[in-house]
Amino acid sequence: MSIINFNKVNKYYGNFHALKDIDLNVNQGEVVVVIGPSGSGKSTLIRTINGLEGFSSGQLVVNGKDLSDKKTDLNSLRRDVGMVFQHFNLYDNKTVLENVMLAPRLVLKRDEKENKEIAMNYLELVGLTSKINSKPRELSGGQKQRVAIARSLAMKPKVMLFDEPTSALDPEMIDDVLGVMKKIVQTTDMTMVVVTHEMGFAREVADRVVFVDDGMIVEDDPAEQFYNHP
Ligand code: ADP
Ligand code: ADP
Repeated sequence: MSIINFNKVNKYYGNFHALKDIDLNVNQGEVVVVIGPSGSGKSTLIRTINGLEGFSSGQLVVNGKDLSDKKTDLNSLRRDVGMVFQHFNLYDNKTVLENVMLAPRLVLKRDEKENKEIAMNYLELVGLTSKINSKPRELSGGQKQRVAIARSLAMKPKVMLFDEPTSALDPEMIDDVLGVMKKIVQTTDMTMVVVTHEMGFAREVADRVVFVDDGMIVEDDPAEQFYNHP
């Protein structure tokens, strides 16, 4: 069943044609890795999925919500679509646990006891049970990114978007974060779209690899097939 469907989506930044006739379908539970040169439109593509970027023409439907319809409620869309960025955007003056509990409390009005249980479960999934009372400044980059992932998961989204989640990390932290992402794939039926340069992750974890160049999708292949190209 389709959960993300682009139909001839075009986007301009002023006169600059950033996305060109994008057709892309992602089914529920699929893991799609997006690769391509710097400036090719990967970030723009992924940011249109939760309405962080608008688009100029075409149709995009995400979890049944039509993003070409101006009446579509973007806040409700963003509850369904979690996003993890290169930089973690944590609240520096709040503990790890409070960072994870905040949005479900404020946005979903989730019961406090249940909220804590859910937060603790996801902090366990990302391996940070021992850090729940720490502040972000006391954590490594890799740990911060794992908090950001737990925070996103705590909203129980249908889709998770990752925009170069390991690009800002020291090399020795990268595998921790990729390991957590792999665990999400193995233990949940999360739909994921991941912009990354980590080809090992793509090979091991992705169902499909989409190659973007100059605002166009120039390849969209099953992951195993992609690596058989000459
Ligand atoms: P990638 O993620 O593949 O590096 P981006 O989606 O960030 O590519 O950018 C694609 C192109 O669009 C780049 O040429 C970039 O400079 C341009 N671009 C991105 N955001 C804006 C913006 N807000 N205004 C104008 N141009 C932009
Ligand atoms: P990142 O690689 O972390 O996405 P970028 O430098 O590509 O960082 O973009 C950072 C911000 O600047 C984004 O909001 C993007 O939309 C905007 N941006 C990127 N390129 C341009 C551009 N040519 N003109 C205006 N804004 C841009």
